[in-house]
Amino acid sequence: MLTIQCQCESTALRWQEAKELWRLECCCSDCSAGIRYLHEAKGGPQPPDHQMLDTVWLPNDFSVVKGLENIGVIKRSEEARNTLIYCTECGTSLITDHEVYGGKVVITQIQNFPQFQGMSVAPTMPVQARHFVDDVDAESRDRLPPFRGRQSEIYGSVSQTLIDAFPRLYEQGSTGDMNAQRLAEIRGISCVEA
Ligand SMILES: [Zn+2]
Ligand SMILES: [Zn+2]
Repeated sequence: MLTIQCQCESTALRWQEAKELWRLECCCSDCSAGIRYLHEAKGGPQPPDHQMLDTVWLPNDFSVVKGLENIGVIKRSEEARNTLIYCTECGTSLITDHEVYGGKVVITQIQNFPQFQGMSVAPTMPVQARHFVDDVDAESRDRLPPFRGRQSEIYGSVSQTLIDAFPRLYEQGSTGDMNAQRLAEIRGISCVEA
């Protein structure tokens, strides 16, 4: 079992199994901008001071064990391909959906906040890659923590090993009765730039 809980503990999502499907370090500007937006506009936790987020893929199949009424669903622009699911009380990002996930998987980055323990079980899968390093501007690049994996698994844009893993992620992922799209239906998606 895996539970993800926001900083104020008014929302929690639960997976039957602690089944991490993939893990990498994402340096893309979308991920950081999302977390920064939630911090600045919704009072969310302070993001790390470097543009790298440990990212874990989970099946799109969970239950809302706490605070359905406090879950917000947001897109940062009309064209945004990712959808942030967060706690409206404390601004913590719980999970993120993306068009390419095909409704089968979601990601979480809640384990990046040292201020609180967002994940009931720490990720066990080793980090498989680091990607979108080219999104990090030159002066911030020095602040990135060292990558512990193979140097060939550092990518300027999308990780090739992730692309190669997607067919398996779709297969091992699932779409539960409760899932990211269902949450968006129930709670409605608000668009920041609309
Ligand atoms: Zn909260
Ligand atoms: Zn990213």
